[in-house]
Amino acid sequence: MNTQAPHMMSDRQPIRQLDDAAANRIAAGEVVERPASAIKELVENALDAGAVRIEISYSDGGKTLIRVLDDGTGIPADELPLALSRHATSKIDGSDLLNIHSFGFRGEALPSLGAVGRLTITSRFDGSETAARISVNGGEISPVQPAALARGTVVELRDLFHATPARLKFLRSDRAESSAINDVVKRLAMAAPDVGFVLRDVTKTGAGRVVFRADPETGDFASSLRARLRGILGADFTDNAIEINAERGGILLSGFAALPTYSRGAAVSQFFFVNGRPVRDKQFYGALRAAYSDVLTRGRHPAAALFLSCDPEQVDVNVHPAKAEVRFRDPALPRGLIVSGLRHALAGSGHRASGTVGQETLNAMRPQAPVYQYQRSTQNHQYVPPPVTTGGFAEADTWQSGRVEPTPELEQNDPTDLPLGAARAQLHENYIIAQTQTGMIIVDQHAAHERLVYERLKSQMQNHGVAAQVLLIPEIVELSADDHSRLMEHVEALASLGLSIDSFGEQAICVRETPVILGEINCKNLISDICDQLSDDGSSGIVKEKINAILSSMACHGSIRSGRRMSAPEMNALLREMEATPHSGQCNHGRPTYVELPLSDIERLFGRS
Ligand code: ADP
Ligand code: MG
Repeated sequence: MNTQAPHMMSDRQPIRQLDDAAANRIAAGEVVERPASAIKELVENALDAGAVRIEISYSDGGKTLIRVLDDGTGIPADELPLALSRHATSKIDGSDLLNIHSFGFRGEALPSLGAVGRLTITSRFDGSETAARISVNGGEISPVQPAALARGTVVELRDLFHATPARLKFLRSDRAESSAINDVVKRLAMAAPDVGFVLRDVTKTGAGRVVFRADPETGDFASSLRARLRGILGADFTDNAIEINAERGGILLSGFAALPTYSRGAAVSQFFFVNGRPVRDKQFYGALRAAYSDVLTRGRHPAAALFLSCDPEQVDVNVHPAKAEVRFRDPALPRGLIVSGLRHALAGSGHRASGTVGQETLNAMRPQAPVYQYQRSTQNHQYVPPPVTTGGFAEADTWQSGRVEPTPELEQNDPTDLPLGAARAQLHENYIIAQTQTGMIIVDQHAAHERLVYERLKSQMQNHGVAAQVLLIPEIVELSADDHSRLMEHVEALASLGLSIDSFGEQAICVRETPVILGEINCKNLISDICDQLSDDGSSGIVKEKINAILSSMACHGSIRSGRRMSAPEMNALLREMEATPHSGQCNHGRPTYVELPLSDIERLFGRS
């Protein structure tokens, strides 16, 4: 094995110009990393050519065959050899690299593919009587020949990397490569909702298996995008997503972002586009996380498809070999726009209980078997109500044991016309049932109260600092030396949050004041949660986010726990406060604080409509 570092080579040779074939292979190393990147380049070419339908086929994870067919403008026969030569492009004239409106502009993809695979291009230029074909194999270009094709272009790439076995070895299993192809095609399909896509795996049979299909969508961008996202991410996403429209400093942010209640266990549904180009830029993922930091717990990930558009001059797309990253002239601008645009939209939708949750609830309540069933008992034929499988809502003993609060008297000013309605009952000492004009609401009182306390803490914090109460007897809390020093770094910040602590030796602290709003709390648990927040290096170091995370832990400690009975006026007061508080549709951990069951659905449940 040669362990010598490349820069230590001593047998220096004179500088010389590499021939085209070598130069192309080097370029290919940057542009074509795997079958999915070849497909990305070819589909982008089809989109640049104005295609309305694009059909993509592959075999063996794209290793043996890739074919992309489009109905775009086509390439004139006499330009086919040029299409295969490096730095030859029809998309820019080279005078202004900061004014790019197409996916391609470097003229590198086709020559690179021709250097690492067997490439054939068949094309019929718009208005031309005939089609023509050109092939390249290991850098050897064939003469242009007549061919048959009704319109558009077909590019076929066989045996990718056959000439560079070392690179072939770096490819992953067919399955992994197929899934990368799928991902690339879906991202491009999101970028172009008005274009139809078919993706086929033709490994086994000639006809192939369609692994993805999206018909061209019509209408304005928002509605065609919504339809396209529905096809790709599922109705669950679009039903729970809010439309985003924001602007700052000449950058527009649009697209869809899911409510926190539709969060994911991994960051799998996060898509960004800059001037229509799919990008995977770390700065945007970070901004998205920050935007949701207030409403999602650690380990949950937001889902969104977001489009940034601006004057091409504001963004350099020529900073990454595969153009997966971009550089904004002012990088703080898109980040700020994403964070504030999403926060604003999420706050506005704070009262939209997740539709999925409501639907899941209904499904859970919907009896599987016929509603009325007779069960044969040993004694006689006796009616036995079907077992209720889920939800504290209808557990049999609730009603018998009389744990239901007496239904409050209808007040003069009947609050059923308010969004969260009039409280009618409390079940299992945690669920408030309220009647609205169009259905019913079930509130998780603990989750709701936690959110309210959090929002109150935040607004106190913003206005004049969180009010503190002095403990009659200061409490000593023991902790690790690590946690101790972390806490000590934040003594002042914590004091502004209503939590005054002193050092008490190296492995203990003394708690002197706690936030009034929390009432009586378990200091030890609160301190331990705060230590967790401070050591959480997953959250960014931004002080404001840390403070919010701490406030969120505090709120959790100060909330009405489930298991507390509430009077009717107390319950109604809670509902009214929820209505008046932003974000109160989700608890601090992104779970819904209430679900809404429309009367129409309840009626369907009972076969009434
Ligand atoms: P770039 O896209 O950067 O221009 P490529 O090597 O990908 O470079 O393509 C070279 C040229 O070939 C393009 O500029 C375009 O004129 C032509 N071309 C490639 N693919 C297609 C296609 N599917 N339809 C029409 N023209 C194409
Ligand atoms: Mg291209």
